[in-house]
Amino acid sequence: AYNFSAGPAVLPEAVLREAAEEMLDYKGTGMSVMEMSHRSKAFEEIIGNAEKSLRELVAIPDNYRVLFLQGGASQQFAMIPMNLMKNKVADYIHTGQWTKRAIAEAKMYGKVNVIASSEDKTFSYIPEVKDLKISDDADYIYICHNNTIYGTKYNDIPETGDKLLVADMSSDMLSEPIDVSKYGLIFAGVQKNIGPAGVVVVIIREDLITEDVLPGTPTMLRYKIHADNDSLYNTPPAYGIYICGKVFKWIQSLGGLEAMKKINQEKASILYDYLDSSSMFKGTAAKKDRSLMNVPFITDSEELNVKFLKEAKALGFENLKGHRTVGGMRASIYNAMPVEGVKTLVDFMKKFEAENKK
Ligand code: PLP
Repeated sequence: AYNFSAGPAVLPEAVLREAAEEMLDYKGTGMSVMEMSHRSKAFEEIIGNAEKSLRELVAIPDNYRVLFLQGGASQQFAMIPMNLMKNKVADYIHTGQWTKRAIAEAKMYGKVNVIASSEDKTFSYIPEVKDLKISDDADYIYICHNNTIYGTKYNDIPETGDKLLVADMSSDMLSEPIDVSKYGLIFAGVQKNIGPAGVVVVIIREDLITEDVLPGTPTMLRYKIHADNDSLYNTPPAYGIYICGKVFKWIQSLGGLEAMKKINQEKASILYDYLDSSSMFKGTAAKKDRSLMNVPFITDSEELNVKFLKEAKALGFENLKGHRTVGGMRASIYNAMPVEGVKTLVDFMKKFEAENKK
């Protein structure tokens, strides 16, 4: 089967095979990584190496900390305002379901200004990033870098001057190179492009990690407690971190993020080129803002959508149904989706189109 799920999603087969080999006896320890103490030497090495590989891959500057946390990406929706809203004001750019949730959460802690939005056209595009009306007293500007549901992504990031930029990169982290120095904080729930559900990677500039958090912020929701304890304040999602470490190494073995970007562009253009030429299927995101990771598309009738999904499933194309809030179809083609998977899908779409032409 080819798994086009938006998350949890396909992982590299080589990573899963290696993990299976080590399942019962991790490097002569006589136990699985699932069973070992997070204070053991073996696990310290696993988490240390995972951080090292991630730093190399993304070229994370020395003045940024990497944290491996829990609570899903959704917990960051609260942790960010609790830790960064010193003036109790933040600017959000609204581009879909995930910024909607982030905005609702931030409103519990301070004033939220929605300084740009693409809600007028069902979030099918990214608002202009130049000449934004950034609030003088905003503690940060928040974006969702890749909108998993609507299939849009920022090609240029907002110009925020000396104001902090915070980005949710849950669905595109490690799909292409990024310049970390442009951000104050980046976070990603790993279950899309990086690893198994249960781990959230946070990359945060060191000076933002302080004791000065909103009153009542629980210990577990303070970046400082996790930074001071190298992500080992409490029991971490150990097995998940171990798999993430393997995925980082897998990307390194392919040539790093530049190479990954090329492969992702190749895969995405196979699908987009076909969508642009088809008279049955249509991509729903604005061309200039198309995601390399999530490709939503529709036909002009719900009946055809249902027929397509049914036939696709029977052939082993899994999880092509669009998000429950938007309908239609969506192919998520994360790093671990092989080029062959996208080619095979497009071949099937062509065949379906020929067979079902009016
Ligand atoms: N942000 C984005 C961009 C997502 O795609 C998701 C998807 O689930 C989330 C946040 C929420 O992640 P989680 O389920 O880990 O809380």
